[in-house]
Amino acid sequence: MNAVKKESIIINYPDFYECACGSKAPLTYQDITTMFNNKKITVEHVPVYICLENHVKLARLTQVKLRNKLKEAYSQDKDRIRF
Ligand SMILES: [Zn+2]
Repeated sequence: MNAVKKESIIINYPDFYECACGSKAPLTYQDITTMFNNKKITVEHVPVYICLENHVKLARLTQVKLRNKLKEAYSQDKDRIRF
C-alpha cells in the first residue's frame, strides 16, 4: 500500500484509502453525530476517508476509539466530545 504518514505518536493513518468504487479517498477530519443509547452525541475532529463519490470510510482503530468516546461522553452526560 501507499506511504504511511505519522499523524500522531500513537496511531499512524495512511494519507488515503483506495475506495471500493475505484477513486481515492483522502484523509480528512470531520465531526460525527450519532445516536448512542438514545442520546445524540457529536464526536469532534474524527479522522475519516471520503472519496469523490462521498463514500465514507473509518479505519478500524478509529471505529474502536469512536465507540469508546461515545461511551465516555454518555457516562459524563455530554453531547459533544473531542476525538
Ligand atoms: Zn468511493
